Amino acid sequence: MSADAKPNRPEPKPGILSIAAYVPGRNEAPGVARVHKLSSNETPLGPSPRVAAALAEASGKLALYPDGEARKLREAIAAAHGLNAANILASNGSDELLGLLCQTYLKPGDEAIYTEHGFLVYRIQILAAGATPVVAPERNETADVDAILARVTARTKLVFIANPNNPTGTYLPVQELRRLQAGLPPQVLLVIDAAYAEYVRRNDYEAGIELVSSSQNVVMTRTFSKIHGLAGLRIGWMYAPSHVIDAVNRVRGPFNVNALAIAAGAEAIADRAHVEKAIAHNEHWLAWLSTELTKLGLRVTPSVGNFVLVHFNAEDPAHGAEAADTFLCGRGFILRRVAGYGLPNALRLTVGSEEANRGVVAALAEFLGR
Ligand SMILES: *Cc1c(COP(=O)(O)O)cnc(C)c1O
Repeated sequence: MSADAKPNRPEPKPGILSIAAYVPGRNEAPGVARVHKLSSNETPLGPSPRVAAALAEASGKLALYPDGEARKLREAIAAAHGLNAANILASNGSDELLGLLCQTYLKPGDEAIYTEHGFLVYRIQILAAGATPVVAPERNETADVDAILARVTARTKLVFIANPNNPTGTYLPVQELRRLQAGLPPQVLLVIDAAYAEYVRRNDYEAGIELVSSSQNVVMTRTFSKIHGLAGLRIGWMYAPSHVIDAVNRVRGPFNVNALAIAAGAEAIADRAHVEKAIAHNEHWLAWLSTELTKLGLRVTPSVGNFVLVHFNAEDPAHGAEAADTFLCGRGFILRRVAGYGLPNALRLTVGSEEANRGVVAALAEFLGR
């Protein structure tokens, strides 16, 4: 078959076959009895204990379609954050929202910007919408507002920024986000992905609520997969101006959030004490892990999330990221390789239980011969 001959079968539209499919964090360490999954930024504390009863009740009505507006969930989110429920749209995980925003705002020829070590779902969804991904370089593994603004063209429709970012754990202070929004043309939509917002303990951080409320071209996406411990149920939400809610509502599936997710999410977000417990656990162990790993001679990117990016020696493959990953896996500690994020010499480690945190540091000390 010559190079330009088309196969005689259905073909995906342009862009689809340029997508490198998302590779989730591994969840198995074959042959190891006790496994600590520290590869997907899930919480070691699990969901609120109030979730179980809500799930039991909802599971008695599975023959019925869920509320297509997920009203109970949206009202619980609105109450927890002091927002207007009309400006909240719920979704099947926040990943779904990232795709819906691309489908709603991007067409072939359009451009969408994300940052060098930004979350890979952005690239996938931009390509799936037939648009062109544009990558803005970062500085010190942190998004660079000037670099983003320098890449805006007349074709730019969306800018994605994860704040804090995964897998680096770094963040932009609120004045930098404001400067980004102020520098964008009003027809460019800024998507602030604040999946880890609850974990951030910094006075100069703001998840995005203020920016969404005070402009027409900013949305904030959030998730129940991280601090709320409900990754398995797939619940996300967006706080957005009414015109964005209206547009995305036309595109989304009519029952995109399932009945169990609506019931569980509403309980989880109302349990402030459980969230506080998770924040306190993370604050303690994030600092502990960062200190202990640094003491082992490993560079750790300063993180405000529930994970740390750990850098290994690129010149010494025997003590590099791949070798470390294999060694740790053999001891039941599953970390996340991040070569796909342009970080081939690093591994991402989720803050786990005390046992997991102490265990992974001890195993790394052994690996490094300390
Ligand atoms: C984990 C994560 C999400 C959450 O995705 P869900 O689909 O809600 O599970 C979104 N953005 C980033 C940057 C993440 O790391």
